[in-house]
Amino acid sequence: AKSQGRNRIQLFSKEINIQNAKKIQLETQLQLAIERDEFVLHYQPVYQSNSNEIYGAEVLLRWNSQEFGLVSPMNFIPLAEETGLIVPIGEWVLRQACQQKKRWSDAGYSTMKIFINLSSRQLNHPNFISVLENILEETGCAPEELSLEVTESMMIKDIKYSATILEQLIELGINVSLDDFGTGHSSLSTLKLLPVQTLKIDKSFIDDISIDYKNSYIVKAIIEMAHSLSLHVVAEGVETAEQLSILNDLSVDYIQGFHLSKPITLEEIETLLELSCSR
Ligand code: C2E
Ligand code: CA
Ligand code: CA
Ligand code: CA
Repeated sequence: AKSQGRNRIQLFSKEINIQNAKKIQLETQLQLAIERDEFVLHYQPVYQSNSNEIYGAEVLLRWNSQEFGLVSPMNFIPLAEETGLIVPIGEWVLRQACQQKKRWSDAGYSTMKIFINLSSRQLNHPNFISVLENILEETGCAPEELSLEVTESMMIKDIKYSATILEQLIELGINVSLDDFGTGHSSLSTLKLLPVQTLKIDKSFIDDISIDYKNSYIVKAIIEMAHSLSLHVVAEGVETAEQLSILNDLSVDYIQGFHLSKPITLEEIETLLELSCSR
């Protein structure tokens, strides 16, 4: 029995070693991804409610790895966060997105907003604000056209410090969105402590809005509360016509989800903009 136990332990540690080896491999590849130009940005349109007009787009990072093929952000962002690689990667995303936004503004789509996800390490990095200021200056992107997405979980460690960073963003003229709203531990106290202008209601609340009255009442209350605080509301993960119609009735401001559009390539969104955006 003793030797069996030992075998089991060996087997187990072998598995851990394989997992670790894979992780190290992934990390090595992730380190090279920027120089190899393997990252690409996709864009998911955010629509005005009750209309076909595009209000903006969320930038979503894609990694086309030489070694692993297309890797979902769910599979590499946590590792990038853990290793700190998210700092240069996040900076790359900001610079690319701001360059693109400037081109769109020059082409006449200046009112269109661009939503960019931030990560915890990035937001809490001591150079974050100065890096951001440099990118804005370098690219000529107007801060009012940017909305930076933060989540409650990335700010719980030191909510006062986070609040000062968000205040600096707002002073720069940048809009701040609270992403995945409702999924944190204390969404309401976060809202009380943090200066944000937009709430993005998490997909989990939208999912059964049409079958579960309880959920639709919660969403209704979130929208009403947000409006009385002068916040704008985006509903995320809208997948059906029925969800869309309920959300329109509840006076949500903006809609994002597969029902209207999946995240698409640069070429695809440019075609869409030409078709549907009022310049
Ligand atoms: P998120 O910020 O909550 O982004 C929304 C995710 O939901 C995206 O997944 C999007 O494709 C997906 N989605 C949108 N509408 C629908 C829908 O109607 N149905 C369903 N089932 N899904 C929908 P994606 O692109 O795989 O990104 C996953 C997460 O990775 C993001 O969640 C975000 O946390 C992170 N991420 C993506 N790009 C970046 C980035 O540039 N920086 C950082 N720090 N994180 C990023
Ligand atoms: Ca987001
Ligand atoms: Ca989200
Ligand atoms: Ca999320």
